[in-house]
Parts: sequence; C-alpha cells; structure tokens
Amino acid sequence: MNSPPTPPSLLLDLVNSRIVWPDGLRDEIGDEAQARAWLRARGGTGSSEEIAGAREVRTVLVDVLRGNLEREALTPWVEVMRKKAVLEADGMEWVLDVPDRSAVGARAVEEWASLQAANGSRIRPCADPDCQHFLVDRSAANRRKWHSMEACGNRTKARRHYARTKAAVQE
Ligand SMILES: [Zn+2]
Repeated sequence: MNSPPTPPSLLLDLVNSRIVWPDGLRDEIGDEAQARAWLRARGGTGSSEEIAGAREVRTVLVDVLRGNLEREALTPWVEVMRKKAVLEADGMEWVLDVPDRSAVGARAVEEWASLQAANGSRIRPCADPDCQHFLVDRSAANRRKWHSMEACGNRTKARRHYARTKAAVQE
C-alpha cells in the first residue's frame, strides 16, 4: 500500500532535520554552511539570524509535537507575524513580513496551524518508539502511524510477530 507523495513542507523538514542515529547525531542545520544551503533551498535567505531562529523554533516545535510543551510555547512566533502586500505581474500577493530571526518560525508555525484538524494534529511523531521522525498525514482518517511503512511499519510488525511467537513458545 503506497501513500500519496507528501508535498514539500518546511515544517516537516525542519522537525526531521535533527536525528540521533546509533552512530551519532545528524543535524542538517548543524553547521553554518550546511544550514545556509538548507534554508536557501527552502526559500530562506540563509542569514545567521535566520539560522539561529530556525534552530530555536525547531527545539520548541519538536517539544510541542511530542506533547512536552503546550502549544502556547509557539506564541512568540505568532506575535511577530505580519503580512504585507507585494505587487506581482498578475496582481498582488500577501507575503509574511517578519524579522529574519523569526522568518522560519513564522512559516513553520503557520504551517503547523494549517495542519491542526478536528480529529487531531496532522503532523505528529512516528509511532515507532525507536524512531525520531515526524510525519504529515493528509488523509481524511488521519490515522497514519509510521513516517515510513518500509522502515518503521515493517519493523514494528516484525517486532510484534516476534513477541507473539516468543509468547507462543513459552506457553
Ligand atoms: Zn518512523
């Protein structure tokens, strides 16, 4: 069963950008040059302020999504959000107008808000306790468990199967 491709998401990329693997930490915005490229690839300027702000909001977002912090922790990014009108060739567009330091946070929090549904948040941690990834579920049921069926779904099923087999042998 294949899930539909996930559209690009700054929020999802951001909360998945820091993973502790058995062989060490992998942080996609850990060093300045890497962070600059990462942010520019996602519509940012890559300034030092923006990089610092991205790291800052990532910590808070991860804690909110894991339920370690109340959603009110996102208030500092909501409070600085403004929109300004920009003339385009074919009309006018409203774009976020926030200081560099809050630029990534404002976009990520705006996206987070759009993913809050009546049946729960569409962005949440992978159900595999050994996995640190987050997933975005845009299905109507909003019940997807694993960020990757191949990696985590099958591992969880194998673990359950093993537990059942072991229990059966011990009976
Ligand atoms: Zn996972």
